Amino acid sequence: MVRANRYFQDVWDTLKSTVVGMRITGKYLLRKPITVQYPDERLPIPDRYRGIHYLEQEKCIDCLACARACPIDCIEMDAIRHGKELEWVSFTLDYQKCMFCELCVYPCPKDCIHMGTEFALVVEDRSELKFDLLSFQGMSPDARVRKREAEEKKKVKDAEKAAKAAEKAATENGDGAKS
Ligand code: SF4
Ligand code: SF4
Repeated sequence: MVRANRYFQDVWDTLKSTVVGMRITGKYLLRKPITVQYPDERLPIPDRYRGIHYLEQEKCIDCLACARACPIDCIEMDAIRHGKELEWVSFTLDYQKCMFCELCVYPCPKDCIHMGTEFALVVEDRSELKFDLLSFQGMSPDARVRKREAEEKKKVKDAEKAAKAAEKAATENGDGAKS
């Protein structure tokens, strides 16, 4: 008799725990899935997230303020000056060292270096973690046009100056010959 009671008790417990378990499963069955299929899908990232930097190259003036502010010398840049225009060679940031402190961002006088929301630093070799932030090397098309216009203006000015100097010299020579 005791055995039979035990048997029915076990059957009851099993049925009860199955129903309780299925009730919890049923609740989640009707909810939307919350799993994000990374990297095809991504959760929204807050604006103030300090991810991989990005540079607004057109605004950058090669002043080195960001590089000087970096406590561990991650930033290096190289550009050739043509008057006011810059011909960019490189602007690298070494993510082997960077600690994402954002200290390079605040001193920028042009507000052109920012911390973005990209975070995936996946490489096969650590040396590949030195990123060039330039979107183009050399001069941008606009900068090239501005440089050409400035050179043409300079040529015209120089020619005018030379003409005036020649005129002045001719006048002086003429005065000298009369006296
Ligand atoms: S985030 Fe910090 S460590 Fe990284 S480059 Fe900027 S100043 Fe240097
Ligand atoms: S501080 Fe700003 S403007 Fe100066 S070099 Fe860095 S990014 Fe360019």
